[in-house]
Amino acid sequence: MIENEIKNSQKKTCIKCGETKPKEEFNRNNSKDGRRSDCKVCSRKANKLYREANKEKLAQYNREYRVNNLEAAAERQRRYYQMHKDDPVFKEKQRLKRLKLKRNKS
Ligand SMILES: [Zn+2]
Repeated sequence: MIENEIKNSQKKTCIKCGETKPKEEFNRNNSKDGRRSDCKVCSRKANKLYREANKEKLAQYNREYRVNNLEAAAERQRRYYQMHKDDPVFKEKQRLKRLKLKRNKS
C-alpha cells in the first residue's frame, strides 16, 4: 500500500537538501519508486565533488585507457599489414601513402 502511494505521488523530498520537488527533478534508477533519493542538483554536486576528489585517479585511468587503445590499434595495423603485404593493391596504396607523407614533409 505504501509502495503504491510512493509510486503515485508526483513529488519527492530530497534526502540531501530536504527540498520537496517534482519527480522530474530526480534522476531515474532502480529503486522502488524509480527515482534517486537525492535530487538532480544534489547528485550533480556530488558528482562534481567526486570528480574533483578523484581527479588524479580519473586522469590516470584515462591515460592508461588511451595507451592501451593505442597499443591495440598498432597491433591491428601490424596484423593487417602481415595479411596484406603481398597484395598488389595494398602495396600500391602503401606506396602512395609514403609519397604523400614525403610531399607533406617538404
Ligand atoms: Zn537535493
